[in-house]
Amino acid sequence: MVATDRVYQLIAEHTTDLVCIHDLENTIRFATPSSKSILGFHFEDIIGRKLTDFLAPEFVNEMDFSTLTRFFDHPGSRIRYQVRHGNSDRLRWLESTFSRIEEAGNAKYSLLSSTRDITESVHLTDDLMNALSTEQQLSRFKSNLYSVASHEFKTPLAVIQANIEMLKVKKNPKVLDMGLESMEEEIDRLNSMIADMLQLKKLTMGKTTLKLESLDLRAILEDVLKNDCQKAYPEIETSIHISQNKEVAVSGDYSLVRYIFSNLLINACKFSKDETPVKVSIDFDESFVKISIEDQGIGIPKEDQGSIFTSFYRATNVSNIQGTGVGLSIVKEFVDLHKGKISFESSPGEGSTFFIELPYTLDI
Ligand code: ADP
Repeated sequence: MVATDRVYQLIAEHTTDLVCIHDLENTIRFATPSSKSILGFHFEDIIGRKLTDFLAPEFVNEMDFSTLTRFFDHPGSRIRYQVRHGNSDRLRWLESTFSRIEEAGNAKYSLLSSTRDITESVHLTDDLMNALSTEQQLSRFKSNLYSVASHEFKTPLAVIQANIEMLKVKKNPKVLDMGLESMEEEIDRLNSMIADMLQLKKLTMGKTTLKLESLDLRAILEDVLKNDCQKAYPEIETSIHISQNKEVAVSGDYSLVRYIFSNLLINACKFSKDETPVKVSIDFDESFVKISIEDQGIGIPKEDQGSIFTSFYRATNVSNIQGTGVGLSIVKEFVDLHKGKISFESSPGEGSTFFIELPYTLDI
């Protein structure tokens, strides 16, 4: 069939892609009626305008439509960008290809663009990428878990095994007490490692939710110092200093906030050296309670400082100290869930201070 003017007209009227002819200044000289569905404007209203007029704000500086002639050298190249649809605030993703056209006989060039709405496929790709990234995180989590399990879980099991062997042969009451106490400690350690792994998995899958209540931070810190630190590290002196002697109430999830302080304080004791003290200070500003936890321990090597909030990461100077590298990554997530901030300063060989800021009130 030979295409007649009528056939071309029918194609132009019924094409679902937006086809435009631009002059060399990028001004639209011809547009198909599909501009209504793609740009949200009647085709007559876009004649005389430029594609740049429709760009979403964040693309205005990024996309260079000013020299569309560059597409002469790359015919068929595609560009993706976002536009505002009509006069609404709705954003749509578009993809355009450009080709050079020469007007019959007079060697005057202009540009033909063909534009299609790819919003659905961009969203689908985003969803797939998110699913893939969760899947990759889970698979990284599993492989890290296997290596931690094979190292860190082995030690307490070996201690328990050794105690059982000893108790089989030495039946005197003192040895029995010591053996049972040591086994209890190792079982506690195993339990808390397993609880950490479960917590991390829950976080990775986005399943951690907050049960908000009014929390007395001073009471929580005192409880952690007494029941977690002094029990495990009786030789380390700990203290709390509160800048104004007032109540420290914030809204938060009790078990998550307790976990944050417990992990940071146990780390401060665990990585201390020569029985140096651990100090907690509480300060206030307009919207945040600021807690700092300071130790004079082994510190964190500079090259590790950027990675310590990554799950399973342990600095290079702690290989002879027990741990899984999971606690701080959980702490960071918990602080984020409370819309707080966490940071630290550390000098290798001199000590570390961790800073937490928690908002007084939390709207979720
Ligand atoms: P773990 O204590 O089980 O090793 P964490 O996730 O709690 O794991 O901490 C990650 C790493 O950050 C630690 O292995 C250690 O290298 C470093 N770190 C955390 N707190 C301190 C601290 N107070 N002093 C020195 N290093 C620390």
